Amino acid sequence: MNIILMGLPGAGKGTQASEIVKKYPIPHISTGDMFRKAIREETDLGKEAKSYMDRGELVPDEVTVGIVKERLSEDDAKKGFLLDGFPRTIDQAEALNQIMDDLGREIEAVINIEVPEEELMNRLTGRRICEKCGTTYHLVFNPPKVEGVCDLDGGKLYQREDDNPETVSNRLEVNIKQSKPILEYYEDKNVLRNIDGAKDINDVTTDVINILDQLK
Ligand SMILES: [Zn+2]
Repeated sequence: MNIILMGLPGAGKGTQASEIVKKYPIPHISTGDMFRKAIREETDLGKEAKSYMDRGELVPDEVTVGIVKERLSEDDAKKGFLLDGFPRTIDQAEALNQIMDDLGREIEAVINIEVPEEELMNRLTGRRICEKCGTTYHLVFNPPKVEGVCDLDGGKLYQREDDNPETVSNRLEVNIKQSKPILEYYEDKNVLRNIDGAKDINDVTTDVINILDQLK
C-alpha cells in the first residue's frame, strides 16, 4: 500500500494520517521526520542535508530524493507507506517514480483532501492565545466563554502574526500554486483520489478508508 497524502494547510492531513496508520500496518513518513532522522543518525545524506540547512540554503533535490529513497527502502516500509510532504515538484515526482521502479513498486493512490479556501481561512485564522498563560482557543472549534478573554485567568486573547488573514491567505496561495502541477501529474496517472475534506472529520476518515480498502 504505497500512498501519498496531499492537502492544503488546515485540510486535516495530520488527523487523517494518524487514522490511516492506526488502521493499516504502514508508517507515516513526512519530509520533516525523514530529514530529522537522517540528520540524527548522521547518514552521509543527512550530513549533506544539514550542511545546506546550516547555511540557510535549500536542500538540493538530489539530496532530498536520496533521503526519501533510503527511508522508503527501510524494513517498516516494505508493506507500504504513507508519504506526506513529498513530492513538492514535478522533478521530485519523476524521481519518486524512478525510486518506485527501482524498488519494483508503484504509487497506488494519491489521497487529496480538498477543502474550500474560505473554510480553510476560517480554520486557520481562528486561533487565539492568552497573553498571560498561553492557553490556545479557536473562535469556531474551541471558543472562550467570554469573547476575547481567557477562561482560566481572565487574560486578554491575541492573534499570532502567523494567523492573520493576509499571512494565511498568502500561505494558501503559495501552497495551491505548488500543489497544482503535482495533482495534475497524478491525475494523468489515474491515481489521484479527491476527498471532500469539508465534511465532519469522522466522515472524511470513512471516505479515506473506503478508498484504501479497495487497494488491498
Ligand atoms: Zn490564560
